[in-house]
Amino acid sequence: MRSTALKKLSSLVSPGGLLLLAVVVLVQWPAIQESVRGLVRFYPYAVFAVGLVLGWWFHRSRLLFALLVLALADRALLHFAAGEAGAAGTGLIVFQAVAFLLPLNLAALTLLTERGTLTLTGLLRLAAIFLQVGAVFLLCRPVGAETAALLELKIFPERFFTWTPVGQPALLLFLAAFALFSVRLFLHPNATGRGFLWALVAVFLGLNADGAGAGPAIYFATAGLILVAGLIQASYYMAYRDQLTGLSARRALNEALQRVGGQYTVAMVDIDHFKKFNDRYGHDVGDQVLRMVAAKLAEVGGGGRAFRYGGEEFTILFPGRAVDESLPYLERIRKAVEETRFAVRSPGRPRRKPKKARPSPAGGGTSRQSRREASITVSIGVAERDPHNVRPEQVLKAADRALYTAKRAGRNRIEPWSH
Ligand code: GH3
Ligand code: MG
Ligand code: MG
Repeated sequence: MRSTALKKLSSLVSPGGLLLLAVVVLVQWPAIQESVRGLVRFYPYAVFAVGLVLGWWFHRSRLLFALLVLALADRALLHFAAGEAGAAGTGLIVFQAVAFLLPLNLAALTLLTERGTLTLTGLLRLAAIFLQVGAVFLLCRPVGAETAALLELKIFPERFFTWTPVGQPALLLFLAAFALFSVRLFLHPNATGRGFLWALVAVFLGLNADGAGAGPAIYFATAGLILVAGLIQASYYMAYRDQLTGLSARRALNEALQRVGGQYTVAMVDIDHFKKFNDRYGHDVGDQVLRMVAAKLAEVGGGGRAFRYGGEEFTILFPGRAVDESLPYLERIRKAVEETRFAVRSPGRPRRKPKKARPSPAGGGTSRQSRREASITVSIGVAERDPHNVRPEQVLKAADRALYTAKRAGRNRIEPWSH
């Protein structure tokens, strides 16, 4: 479907990337630059103020620390390097030190877990940031001269690096941080990770920016803005996604139902005898079952979209389809769940695999004997928008009633609503 393809595409494009692109275009465009010069002066302050408030409000210490690091780097460059990427003397040392420390700090912040700001851990992290200010200060003194020289260590032939004022050790760190962020993002895609990746790119562009123009400040502020946008996106994601199963949550269902027009079908899916299953195998195994069922539901064809309605109940919405057209897709799901053998560890059972898997009766946990494999079944009630059920709440309710008919009729079956 066109809309789902579009959604997939838009989820790939992160707001961070778009923000950075906008700023790059803005900075390269002299005419625009001239007219927004006044605004640009307030931009970093606005970003840091908004970021600090949001970070504090949402208890995101890593955002607060990242903004602090960016602000300190910005101030350091402004005062000592005077925005000149190729400055000499103290200015050059500060520049190379900032270039070296920025990727290091951003990488550390992505690896650390959220531990609060005014906690012992938070204060230690804060101290670590300010210690670096002292370290940069020492680098500029005669005592630190030898160490400072290391920041410009030539590891590779110089002629390959004429395009950037950033020293080779810092370049390596940027490369390593970029690789680290990319790998983590590949393994666990999330808005915060995407934010840190784009912020790193923004910071690197800032260090390479022309000091005479808007300079690093704009890029550093944009890096901050990207992190703030990541926080907002992550919060949005939290509100609309179910954390346990990864399916869209009830809030998303309500909005989808308000948007869907014309013909549509709603299926309510409920796991059979799930309470017994939980009682027998424990809540954690129950959670695994929920994830397994959710994964099957997510693969429903026919343009259907699965939601976690709550507890062990799920909803599938088929926009533009009648009940009859939806039934084959639902039947495939019912069967797929029924045929999935769920491995459970039961105490007192031999560890070796039984020669032949013995399926347990529907509901898995009903027989007295412990088994290594249990089967799960679901019951499904289906209703469509029709003259009897016009509003989304009515269709949902009709599907729910059909579900209870399916339960009473013996479970592990699909029941269309009939009045
Ligand atoms: P029926 O076949 O009639 O649907 O019986 P049931 O036992 O599935 O229905 P009931 O509504 O009595 O019990 C639902 C159970 O679902 C109760 C609760 O223990 C379990 N449950 C709800 N949410 C979760 C969850 O997030 N994780 C786990 N593990 N269990 C949950
Ligand atoms: Mg239920
Ligand atoms: Mg149930």
